Amino acid sequence: MLKDYKEQIQDADLVLVGIGHELRAERFIDFKEVIQDKGYQKLIDREDEDGKWMRSVYERAYLLELGQVSYFKQLEEVLDGKDYFVITSNDDGLLYHTSLDKNRVVAPCGTGDFFQCETPCDQQLYPAKLGLDDLIAYYEETGKIDYLECPKCGKPLIFNVRTQGNVSSYVENAYISTWAEYTKWLQNTLNKKIFILELGEGFYLPDLFRWPFEKIAFYNKKATMVRVHETMYQFGEELKDKGISEKIDSREFIK
Ligand SMILES: [Zn+2]
Repeated sequence: MLKDYKEQIQDADLVLVGIGHELRAERFIDFKEVIQDKGYQKLIDREDEDGKWMRSVYERAYLLELGQVSYFKQLEEVLDGKDYFVITSNDDGLLYHTSLDKNRVVAPCGTGDFFQCETPCDQQLYPAKLGLDDLIAYYEETGKIDYLECPKCGKPLIFNVRTQGNVSSYVENAYISTWAEYTKWLQNTLNKKIFILELGEGFYLPDLFRWPFEKIAFYNKKATMVRVHETMYQFGEELKDKGISEKIDSREFIK
């Protein structure tokens, strides 16, 4: 459990945290219930593209309207006052609804805050909130599902989030400045006593932080690395003696 590492974290100069798939929003929030509460059972039953799209509109709107969430409270507490950085492969923006320092959180897969052109015809980002409100108002008045169009080329606007299918068309502007901070921070980890905590990533997007974390742990003599995952908690040969595996769902681990 996270609290068992509290002393080691306190003792470290730097703390690097990766938040993965086991800690994505839908593992904390029952979106089905959110839509059901609004009385849209019909929408839940729809399996077509329009239905999926409209559900995602409700989910994203719900996430954007969230106040502070308490899911990461333990983590916030152990990081308080430390020199840390958090990277996430999730695209739900959840970490921005915590007391973590926004300048120390990077979300390379997006947050749901923006739309972008599907193509994209340019690198423009559009704040999502207004568009979502429009789509919801239209659906609730007419029962019809609509889409948003790129004001420049007329193609659909889509959520500015990275998926396995859109790596080459994903507009990266939203996170690029925190990414620069992150890489600068990483450059200063050499020879420092660093505590690396990988939470629930598995092999979702291993090149984002799973493999980079392993590399830091391997080369830094003073590094400690803890990998938490219900099933993919193992280390390879190089870190067999150094890495600490926690075979547990990260959601339970940070409770
Ligand atoms: Zn366009």
